[in-house]
Amino acid sequence: MKDASFLGKLFSSPFIRGFYNDEKPVVDIKLEGNKFEQRRMTSLINTIARNSPTGRAILEDAAKAGYTFSFERQRGSYGFCDPSEKRICLNPMHNDAKLTGTLAHEARHAQQHTKDVPTKFCTLNVATELKLRRATESDAQAVAAQTALEIRAATRNEKIWNAFEETDRHIALSVGKPSVFKSLDSVVADRDKNMQNAFKGWFNDWRTIDAYEQGYLYHHLRAVARCEPEEKAAYFAQKPFEGHKTSADILKMVCTTEKGKCYFANDLDIMDRETAMCGICQDTREAADMFFSERKKVTGKAPDTSYQNLPDRGDLFKALKMMMMPIGEIKVTKAPLDKKALPPSLIAGLNKIRQGR
Ligand SMILES: [Zn+2]
Repeated sequence: MKDASFLGKLFSSPFIRGFYNDEKPVVDIKLEGNKFEQRRMTSLINTIARNSPTGRAILEDAAKAGYTFSFERQRGSYGFCDPSEKRICLNPMHNDAKLTGTLAHEARHAQQHTKDVPTKFCTLNVATELKLRRATESDAQAVAAQTALEIRAATRNEKIWNAFEETDRHIALSVGKPSVFKSLDSVVADRDKNMQNAFKGWFNDWRTIDAYEQGYLYHHLRAVARCEPEEKAAYFAQKPFEGHKTSADILKMVCTTEKGKCYFANDLDIMDRETAMCGICQDTREAADMFFSERKKVTGKAPDTSYQNLPDRGDLFKALKMMMMPIGEIKVTKAPLDKKALPPSLIAGLNKIRQGR
């Protein structure tokens, strides 16, 4: 699993990044990697911990939960959080300004999983899975945005916020950049509002919502068609789709600030109201119908009906079908999609295709 490649190390070396101070992380987190990688990671941790109260609290929770931070080269990704192995890995190929936001984002995922967010996809019913997986991503981005704003206010340096804005313009626009003269205290005081706006901003990019619906739900449902008959019962057991949570349940579980408070406390039903947040695409609906009818045949279990009355988000693969029918069909229906979410490189590819529309 660990990437000990020459290139991976090179990208954290003084040759590429310059020298990092030999200092201790302000938050006592387990680090892995060579001397230069550990110093680089320490520098990212300390930038957050010294300048952003919001980011620091989240790093402290990741440390308490026993997470290890390291660098690992990945295709099409800035970093990831693996809750089963309690690891957070950043992609060393990206610059420190970008990776600071990524570190806050991934540490938030670690915190989410210590607060009862199921680590496995397809645990709760379809309506809940749709909202929950979207909420965990938009919330992690809300944390990255707020951390970047706090660092900007504390240091009067725009670099980290600009790096966030560059890749997540729709979220940055929704938050709105405060005056650079605004104090750190007032940026912290605005946290609930900023994070609500960032969370909502995530839903302004339909390509991202599509990519998550495909990767976290659609492909898991479709994959049952590729199971051998004797594998099906085990597959259904791994993906129970059981248990319902409302918008309020999800927001109270995911969108937390200190002492269990929720930054959406004044608008807890928003995810049940907004089509971008609770809607389902036609392809996913059909895939779910197929999955649950097959499950009934194999296990006798009654189908999940939670998604039947959700608003329609349109056709998940419409743009893909229009752009590249033959290749799209091959990629989407024959890729090995049974065990894991859609690979990030394919999600990135899908996004590129749709972007070109
Ligand atoms: Zn994420």
